[in-house]
Amino acid sequence: MAKESVWSVAKGSVRSVANNSGNRRANLTRVTMTVENNGRERKSAVIVAHPGHELMIYHWIERHRPLYCCLTDGSGGRAVSRVASTTRLLEGAGAVRGPICGRYSDKQIYRLLLDKQVHAFVGLMSELAEALSAAGVECVAGDATEGFNPVHDVCRILIDGAVAMVRRQTRRQLRNYEFVLDSAPGGAAASPTDGAEVLRLDGAALERKIAAALGYPEMRAEVEAAVARFGRQAFAVEVLKPAGVTSPGARFEHEPPTYERHGQMRVNEGLYSEIITYGDHVRPVLRAVEDAAR
Ligand SMILES: [Zn+2]
Repeated sequence: MAKESVWSVAKGSVRSVANNSGNRRANLTRVTMTVENNGRERKSAVIVAHPGHELMIYHWIERHRPLYCCLTDGSGGRAVSRVASTTRLLEGAGAVRGPICGRYSDKQIYRLLLDKQVHAFVGLMSELAEALSAAGVECVAGDATEGFNPVHDVCRILIDGAVAMVRRQTRRQLRNYEFVLDSAPGGAAASPTDGAEVLRLDGAALERKIAAALGYPEMRAEVEAAVARFGRQAFAVEVLKPAGVTSPGARFEHEPPTYERHGQMRVNEGLYSEIITYGDHVRPVLRAVEDAAR
């Protein structure tokens, strides 16, 4: 239904390639903070919609060794889960799987959205909040709201809700970061937001990242194509921006997200009989999660 990709769309110009499913010393620049934190002691978490997204922040994961959660198994329109590949990647990078890791197939989570089963998403948010709280997590990174895949945007809604719930229940101040899949990370680095973390990978870190990506079978073809087209250096920067500053749905109140416009085109072509829209399916999740987290 909605397209899914990591490496191809990450460069911001290969939307048509998107598949359907989908040393240790680097320079860490905290744009507005002066104290560098090597991250190794920090208790962190990564929460993404689909296994494979973590490739975009592979070096950040090496440094932080986070608890990792993904909502779906990344199977897309096929029947093959990507969770095993992500599990190998996490083990190589020193991260650990959390309680939610491929909970639903992509078809199942689309069905939950289409059927307006908002309680299922509120339940996921509560589970995430419990996991963050139990692990004493102080820093969360995950999908950004980009409007090209509704499950990515729902993931951001769940992260913001879980962070709000933990803050409210524990009075702890978790840091909340997002990273993009649908635009060039280098572009984001060129105009850093206050408080962003920008990691610039050295040669050894970049080698490990490329090796990890090529060792992820379901992503290998996309990675090879992206490296051939954009060069290896395109993957040598990782940008995490502060999230939760604005409501993840605000931008779609007046302009429909890309997934909705693409879905409508498929309906017009007779390819889809039903589509996920922001107003009918994603906004109700946002409202329910915000109410529960409050
Ligand atoms: Zn995805």
